[in-house]
Amino acid sequence: GNRSDGRKGDLVATDARHVLHPWADLSALGRPESLIVCEADGVEVVDSSGRRYLDAIGGMWCVTVGYGRRELVDAMRAQAQKMPYFTPFGDISNAPATELAATLAALAPGDLNRVHFTTCGSTAVESAVRIAHLYFASRGMPEKRHVLSRVDAYHGSTFLAASLSGKEADRTRFQYESRWVHHLASPGYDPDTSSVSADQRLRELVEGMKRTITEIGPEKVACFIAEPILASGGVLVPPPGYHEATRELCRRYDILYISDEVVSGFGRLGHFFASEVRFGIVPDLLVTAKGLTSGYQPLGAVLISDRIADSLVAGADPAKPVFSNGFTYSGHPVACATALANIDVMERDDICGHVRDVGPYFIDRLRELRTSPIVYAVRGDHLMACVECQVPGEVGPTPRNQALAQRVDAYCEEAGLLVRPYENLCILSPPLVITRADIDRIVNILADALARAE
Ligand code: PLP
Repeated sequence: GNRSDGRKGDLVATDARHVLHPWADLSALGRPESLIVCEADGVEVVDSSGRRYLDAIGGMWCVTVGYGRRELVDAMRAQAQKMPYFTPFGDISNAPATELAATLAALAPGDLNRVHFTTCGSTAVESAVRIAHLYFASRGMPEKRHVLSRVDAYHGSTFLAASLSGKEADRTRFQYESRWVHHLASPGYDPDTSSVSADQRLRELVEGMKRTITEIGPEKVACFIAEPILASGGVLVPPPGYHEATRELCRRYDILYISDEVVSGFGRLGHFFASEVRFGIVPDLLVTAKGLTSGYQPLGAVLISDRIADSLVAGADPAKPVFSNGFTYSGHPVACATALANIDVMERDDICGHVRDVGPYFIDRLRELRTSPIVYAVRGDHLMACVECQVPGEVGPTPRNQALAQRVDAYCEEAGLLVRPYENLCILSPPLVITRADIDRIVNILADALARAE
C-alpha cells in the first residue's frame, strides 16, 4: 500500500490515513480528528499537539495507580531484560506468572485458588466459559452447555465474549449469535428514576431468571456470567440483594456463577475484588484484567475454585486429557511482573482505602449535576460513574440525546477533561489516585460543559 511517513509527518493525518481504531465511528473514518496521546503522568495525559487533559476515563477503566509509576516501569524493564518471553504451554511456566498466581489466590474470595492466565478481558471471559463447559463434561454432563448473560452486559469483543454481550446491535451486526447464549433482563435499578421499588424490581429479576432456567431446563444450563455493576452498558447498579439471589439460584440449579470483575476488580469499588466484600458472594469463577496491571501491560486471568479444578482433574478424559485453551502470550512474564509491582504499589499506598475515602465524595459531587435540565440521571459507585444526558422529556439513547452527550464530551475535551461518551452517557472512571481537588476540577468542567450544551 501507500506509505506515509508517520514519524516525520503529522500524526493525526497519518492516523486518519492508515488506522482502523477499535470501536471506530465508521462514518468518520479518514477524518483527521483523532486524539493521539503521546505522554502521561499522574492523572493527566498529553496529546500530539502538547495539550494536557485530566483523564477521567482511566485509560479505559484500567489505569488505576496513575501514569508514570516508576515501580511498574522498573519491573517491566527488569523482567524484559532478565527473560522477556517463554512459552506458557503444557508444564512450562515463568517465575512472575507463578508468583502472581499465588498472590491472586491470596487476594481472591473463598477457594478461588487456581489461576488460568490469558491476554486480556475477552480471552479471560471466553476461557471461563470453556472451563465451565469442561467442568460439566468432567462430571459426565456434557449437555450442560447453555450460558446465561444479561441485556446491557459487556464481556468483550472476541466471538464468544461478543455473543455474551448484551447490546443487540453489537452482536447482530456480525451474525455471531450463539444458540447457547440467553440474555436475561438488564438488572440496572436507579431509585431516582424508577417507578417501582427496589424489592419489586429484585423480585421481577429473580423470577425472570428462574423462568429462563426452567424453560431451557436446568440440566442444560452451565453458567451465569455477571458484572457486579454493568460498566460499559451504562454503569447500571442492580437492586440490593441481586447478586446474593442470583448466586443462590445458581447453587440451587447447579449452574456456575462467573463474576466478571474486569472493571470492578482492582480497587475501582474500593476493594481488590468486589464480589464478596461488596456483594456478599463467592463466585465459582472470577474474571479479571484491566486494573490487574493498571493498564501498563495486557493481561487477563480466570480465578477458579478448588472444587472446579479438582473436578477437572478427577474427570479428565483419559483419551484426551489436554485443556485445549491458551494463547502464546497467556501470563506473559513482563505483564505478570508488572501486575506484581502494581499490587505492591496498591498495598503500600492503600489505594483501595483511598478509593473508599474519595469514592463517596466523587459520587456526591457528580450528583450535584442533576440540577442541569439536560441531565436525566447520575449513577455510580465509588470510582465508576456516568451522567446520562437528555433533551428534556426525551428519555433514552435517541439520536438527539446521543448528539447532546457528544457535545458535552467535546466541550469537556476543549476545557482539558477527557470523559467517555457512550450513547447518551458520559462515562467516568478516573485513575484511583485522584484527589478531592481533581474531583472538583472534573465536576466544575462537566458543569460548564452541560451549561454550554443546554
Ligand atoms: N468484561 C468487562 C466487564 C469489560 O468491561 C471488558 C472491556 O471493557 C471486557 C470484559 C473485555 O476486556 P478486553 O477489552 O480486555 O478484552
